Amino acid sequence: RRPLLRIESLKTHFFVDDGPVRAVDGVTLTVPRGKTVCIVGESGCGKSITGRSVMGLVEHPGRVVDGHIWWSPADGDQRSSAGGRNPLRRSRRHAADSDQDAVDLAALDPRGEALRRIRGNEISMVFQEPMASLSPMYTIAEQLIETIRLHRRMSKRDAYRLGVELLTRVGIPRAEQRMNAYSFQLSGGMCQRVMIAIAIACGPKLLIADEPTTALDVTTQARIIDLLAEIQAETDMSMMFITHDLGVVAQIADEVVVMYLGTVVEQGSVEEIFHDPKHPYTRALLASIPKMGVGARKRPETIRGQVPHPLNRPAGCPFHPRCDQAIAGVCDTSEPPTVELPNGRRVRCVLYDRELVTTAAKGDQAV
Ligand code: SF4
Ligand code: MG
Repeated sequence: RRPLLRIESLKTHFFVDDGPVRAVDGVTLTVPRGKTVCIVGESGCGKSITGRSVMGLVEHPGRVVDGHIWWSPADGDQRSSAGGRNPLRRSRRHAADSDQDAVDLAALDPRGEALRRIRGNEISMVFQEPMASLSPMYTIAEQLIETIRLHRRMSKRDAYRLGVELLTRVGIPRAEQRMNAYSFQLSGGMCQRVMIAIAIACGPKLLIADEPTTALDVTTQARIIDLLAEIQAETDMSMMFITHDLGVVAQIADEVVVMYLGTVVEQGSVEEIFHDPKHPYTRALLASIPKMGVGARKRPETIRGQVPHPLNRPAGCPFHPRCDQAIAGVCDTSEPPTVELPNGRRVRCVLYDRELVTTAAKGDQAV
């Protein structure tokens, strides 16, 4: 099956007075159908901008300057049955090269109709601040009904009914009463549920969730995560889940993409990342999680230093000032290669490039 979303060498830069900020600087990643891909990393690594780039919601003065965002809503299996009524259409679609059905979102006008239609119908996004995303001027019902009717031909009454159904679906008790409430009358957790209801109202194929639980207390967090996993299992929706919380990743991810300063440093399945992390940054991130149970009193290690501002991006490997394994003369001068390991995992670190490491070692001996 073709992946639902394939981001290739994406670059999103912000053109500020001091020069371009390379917030996303060559990101490549894949979101398979029906799976959850978590994008992790400390704040300021370009996770949110990657999500916003897919949606065409990068704020001024930023824009996508290079790369592709291949969007393939129809997969091969669905196509053959979807065209069932019209044999002509079916055969034509069958004959079509598979890539012809992929749209490059990066090539569409972010303010244009085509992207707006995809954004409303096929891709939805949930943000970190539920209160800020809802309007205080309109009731929950008004906001839900408007969204539903924007995407589905439906009478107000039917949209209202569907709204109540959706609120119940996301676990809001006494949904009918809540329909008439305003966002400020609801708790943060309730607002986030309403946002999720609005986001799934159009039956998206991809949900981009940007730190959707960060503003919530731990119990509510857990409920929202369960809820998203449930909806996903029922609908075969894919998720791009952006978070800095590795505990959440362990619960929800199929695949993990680790970002550092605008680049992907490592990607792999959730098992691979947690049990066999390769990149020094991933290892440092994992070492910084507080451990449960025995030895819990031992303080987690923190990663030395801080993420530099993208304007002061270090030369060579952007992680080298904080890396315990940095090789002098190599890591501080040349950008590390992205190495594909035998099982398909990708790591952007010189340690996995045999030739480079051997050359560096010989250089050391010579000195
Ligand atoms: Fe560390 Fe060098 Fe690998 Fe960068 S390339 S992560 S500095 S070892
Ligand atoms: Mg963010």
